[in-house]
Amino acid sequence: MVVQGYGQVPVRLSEGLDVRLDQPVAAITRAKAEDGSATTGAKTTDENIHIECHDGTVYDCSAAIVTVPLGVLKNRQIRFTPPLPEWKEKAIQHLGFGLLNKLVLVFEKPFWDTTVGLFGYVGSGEEGSFAKGYDLKAYRSSRGKFYMFWNCIVVSGLPVLGKQLPLHTIVT
Ligand SMILES: Cc1cc2nc3c(=O)[nH]c(=O)nc-3n(C[C@H](O)[C@H](O)[C@H](O)COP(=O)(O)OP(=O)(O)OC[C@H]3O[C@@H](n4cnc5c(N)ncnc54)[C@H](O)[C@@H]3O)c2cc1C
Repeated sequence: MVVQGYGQVPVRLSEGLDVRLDQPVAAITRAKAEDGSATTGAKTTDENIHIECHDGTVYDCSAAIVTVPLGVLKNRQIRFTPPLPEWKEKAIQHLGFGLLNKLVLVFEKPFWDTTVGLFGYVGSGEEGSFAKGYDLKAYRSSRGKFYMFWNCIVVSGLPVLGKQLPLHTIVT
């Protein structure tokens, strides 16, 4: 748990950097001049990365690191030229993601050991429990049974337990 949130990390790391926000990228082109030299931008490399944003802004650079979310790649919202290699495109389409709910329970006073960071229920050995090891198939059939609670007293100052739940888990 990071007091006051993870946002502090990029804010601190980006100090002194020229960060441009609100410029969604539409296309990334790796260009090469006929003589092998740079077409635009950096002259020290024989490859050029040409980046076009939706607002018409263009950046030419020698390298680009793309860290957009998987969904953006799945929907092909950025046009790559040349296209991404087939193996990478396949991996993008095969990978999945899901939704988690965050549950915050506030108590009048703590009933748990407040010196631990987290505690959980491992199961008693029935099919799908973590007592049998980390078996993904078994985990799927018993989703939500693995109760891991975060002791949030340290960060919130209140008797609070935090928990993440798969979307379909019903809490009563
Ligand atoms: C509600 C919520 C709670 C979470 N809680 C936790 C937690 O407690 N602990 C934890 O470890 N993780 C948590 N996560 C997950 C964590 O936030 C992500 O795993 C992490 O932020 C992923 O980082 P990333 O850099 O890969 O992607 P992101 O942080 O999603 O960054 C991708 C960036 O790409 C930008 N982008 C998208 N399309 C384009 C485009 N066309 N051109 C240019 N830029 C583009 C987006 O604007 C975004 O800034 C949480 C996520 C959510 C949504």
